[in-house]
Parts: sequence; C-alpha cells; structure tokens
Amino acid sequence: MKKVLVLEDESSIRSFIVINLRRAGYEVIEAESGEEALEKLQQHKDVRVALLDIMLPGIDGFEVCRRIRATNTKIGIIMLTARSQEMDKVTGLMTGADDYVTKPFSPAELTARVDALMRRSGGAAETADEELRQEPFLLNTRNRTLEKNGQRIKLTQMEYSIMRMFMENPGKALSREEILDLVWGRDYFGELKIVDVNIRRLRLKIEDNPTNPTYITTVWGYGYKWGF
Ligand code: CA
Repeated sequence: MKKVLVLEDESSIRSFIVINLRRAGYEVIEAESGEEALEKLQQHKDVRVALLDIMLPGIDGFEVCRRIRATNTKIGIIMLTARSQEMDKVTGLMTGADDYVTKPFSPAELTARVDALMRRSGGAAETADEELRQEPFLLNTRNRTLEKNGQRIKLTQMEYSIMRMFMENPGKALSREEILDLVWGRDYFGELKIVDVNIRRLRLKIEDNPTNPTYITTVWGYGYKWGF
C-alpha cells in the first residue's frame, strides 16, 4: 500500500485532502500538529510521501520538514502553502522539501503531485545494478546514492533524480521544461520555478563553490547543463 502522511491543522482542508488521496488509492495517515506528524512517522516508517502545511499552531511545517530530513532522505515532502505567503520566502525556506502546492488546489493537481513524487521515492525497482562514474562523482543507481571523492552526499529523491538526469546527459544543455518533464513527469502540474529551487539546493551539496558552479552550469535564458 502506498502510504501518505497529511499534516494540516484545519480539519476541513485536511478532510478534503484525505478523501481525495484515498479516492486515488493511497493509504492516508493524518496529523493535525507537527508534533503529532513526527510521532506518526515514527510509527509508520513506510510512509513514502508527506504533505506538510506550513502555518501550524505548534512547530511550523518548515521545522517539521527539517526534523524529518535530519534522519530521512528517502521520503518525498510536499509543502502546502497559502496564496498569501510570499513564494520567494517559501522556496528559500524549503530546505528539505521536494515540492510545494499552493492553496487552494484541485484534487487532480494534488494527486498528480503526490503521484509524481511517489514514483520517485523508491517505488519502482531500478532495472540494473549500475554505477555512473564521472570524476569526482559516483552515482549508484541501485542504492540511489551519490559520492563525491568517495564521500557520500545526502540527497533527497528529487535531487537524486536530477543528478541522475544530468549524469546521463553530460554536456547537453537541458531546458527547464525538459528537466521538469524528465524528473517530475509529463503529467506534472507545477511551475518551472521548482526546477530552480531544487538545482540551487543541489548545487549547495555538490559544487566546490556553489556561487560559482562548475558542475551544473546555467545556460542563460534556457536551462542547465552538466559539465562545461
Ligand atoms: Ca494551517
């Protein structure tokens, strides 16, 4: 069963999400506070995607996300944001989240986002025991791990997928639309901005100097390229 955790303090919104995810075939665990969400994740270690509201009475959604990520890089995390929240601030604070959905959202949009993340959260078995080596990086597609100079770099599932896409396309300029299609899937409803958010974070983890990236280079007005 594909398990999803929904953290939302407003019961009407929570029910709306839960009903629609159940209708889409997910098993849903509910939490109305950050503390409860963390507790339930301890009990249900097989939750593969968590939807986290940001504005909560106790610890906020960002803090919940941070605490989850401290021990779990595998789970997919989607932040639920309000229209009134300034997006630049939100994306800047999205230190461990894979995606965000802006309220109000349609059931179709929500399930498409969860589906996309579910596909990437270790659901599908990799086809072969394979290593992609491009010095100083080594990507293991079986364990879904990345090493740089022999040191493991902790990646979220989205970051791993982006890294794999780049390493499979060395030297090729990829448009942001192409990256969105390749990593998030064609049925993804989200904005292109999510590509930049994830790449900015990936650079912090893999570049020698993130302000002057040399591995993931920007192709101005187009997208990104792996290598020179
Ligand atoms: Ca709330």
